[in-house]
Amino acid sequence: MKGLMMDVPLNIKTIMSHAAMVAADTKLISRRADGSISRLTYSDAFARTARLANALDHLELSSEARVGTLAWNDHRHFELHYAIPCTGRICHTVNPKLFPEQIKFIINDAQDEALFIDPQFIPMIEAMQDQLPSVKHWIALCSANELPQSSLPDLQAYENLLGCEQDSYDWPLLDENRASNLCYTSGTTGDPKGVLGSHRSIVLQCMSQNMASQLGLTSEDVVMPLVPMFHVNAWCMPYSAPMAGAALVLPGPHVSDAAAITDLINQEKVTFSLAVPTLWSGINQFLNASGTSIPSLERGVIGGAAGALQLYQDMDRHGVTLENGWGMTELSPIGSYNRYLPSHDQLPKEDQAEQRLKSGRPLFGIQMRIVDEDGNSLPHDGETTGVLEIRGPWACSAYYGKPREHDWFNTGDVATIDPSGYMRITDRVKDVIKSGGEWISSIEIENVVMSHPGVREAVVIGVAHQHWSERPLLIVVPDDNYPTLTSDQLLSYLEGKVPKWWIPNACEFVDTLPHTATGKVSKKMLRENFNHYQWA
Ligand code: AMP
Repeated sequence: MKGLMMDVPLNIKTIMSHAAMVAADTKLISRRADGSISRLTYSDAFARTARLANALDHLELSSEARVGTLAWNDHRHFELHYAIPCTGRICHTVNPKLFPEQIKFIINDAQDEALFIDPQFIPMIEAMQDQLPSVKHWIALCSANELPQSSLPDLQAYENLLGCEQDSYDWPLLDENRASNLCYTSGTTGDPKGVLGSHRSIVLQCMSQNMASQLGLTSEDVVMPLVPMFHVNAWCMPYSAPMAGAALVLPGPHVSDAAAITDLINQEKVTFSLAVPTLWSGINQFLNASGTSIPSLERGVIGGAAGALQLYQDMDRHGVTLENGWGMTELSPIGSYNRYLPSHDQLPKEDQAEQRLKSGRPLFGIQMRIVDEDGNSLPHDGETTGVLEIRGPWACSAYYGKPREHDWFNTGDVATIDPSGYMRITDRVKDVIKSGGEWISSIEIENVVMSHPGVREAVVIGVAHQHWSERPLLIVVPDDNYPTLTSDQLLSYLEGKVPKWWIPNACEFVDTLPHTATGKVSKKMLRENFNHYQWA
């Protein structure tokens, strides 16, 4: 017997209608490249979204067109996140910080019919336009008077495109399993691979994120995603914030300018933000150096890479509780979340620290397990490490245009899971250091080193060793205030804090670390740079 409930599809349009009803006057702020501010309400932004939907139809894009964006976090990109999927098309966010070769590959693989481009990226696209045969329309994300001179054929200004359209649209009732969003992930080997989300996967991810024991946004929140919309839709904030009736503050291009960001936090009374550890670290350093305070900011998600305990503790002093969120592009992106609970305060001091560094419990809907090299499930005892596998309605079952994957998705992360369901990432499979046949957790060593006040950034990589096959090498960006810091001091600082045989054989100082296009430290590049490293 079938249940007698209405068959109402879970599609992105329902987020828009809901927010238009419960949060029509809630603000959607965005900061332009020149620092000036655009102030809209959700009601204004959805009226503009309707105009954009009409414009997409007038461009005669096909019904399942992939529409590419190369853009920062701002209100125009927000509008594209709704108009493209809600007209049945696929919003393909392209990471403009990738190498041009990768960008060209991605646009061609997706067969994008139109590109919406921030003026800053137009020169890069001009240089490859002849090699992008599927693209028929080029739109600059600016007003008519900001339209740059360009060799792109019939380049139009976004505001001109919207100017002559009506601000109502007859939205179609779309199947919830219809494709909605496309984002490529640049793996370590081979070409980037497309992760194709659906209306249903986006809606379910946002509903699960918004549970009180997870990110739990409310209509009191003012949310500022520093994670880019071109990387898995800023962890879905353009969808989950309006779903919760929370306000959105979009920071525009200058996300790594900590002074500008803290200024925006104070001006707009931001309560919640999301960023990778490198950006939180920049904010922390700025607050320490300038004495600025950010009283409205209560909580933040630190994710995309492991953050050091010291950073959590420093941000506590600034009044911001950081919460660890783990995920990946293939998971739309959040899989687990470590919501700070009052019961954590009852734990012994050293366990409190351990607790915060865990990657959290799975969001409702996500199943997790750890397995050995033969695929056997391993115990959830908080000690045994294995490869993390997941299943769930917002986990990728196959890459775009590629054959299906297994029922369980192999994340390529190495983790433990404890009896309360808390998962902790100890490494990436490819970053694991195997010394004399035993695994060493680079993340745990980095975490201890980062608690030394003379260390600004620290990374541990495996380097070939004649006897042990691999040994850890510590690479450190020292803090300017500690000019006398030595390698030996740092190595002896690790004694008693990690197993003796984990202590790196050497420590090298560098001025900066290489970062990937998504703002994470690139261990791959470091391994290449230290490929011929000679142990003393
Ligand atoms: P991406 O698909 O580019 O978002 O990268 C996903 C990968 O980033 C994961 O498989 C992890 O290796 C890493 N990652 C994401 N979040 C965390 C986290 N909270 N702690 C440690 N690593 C993380």
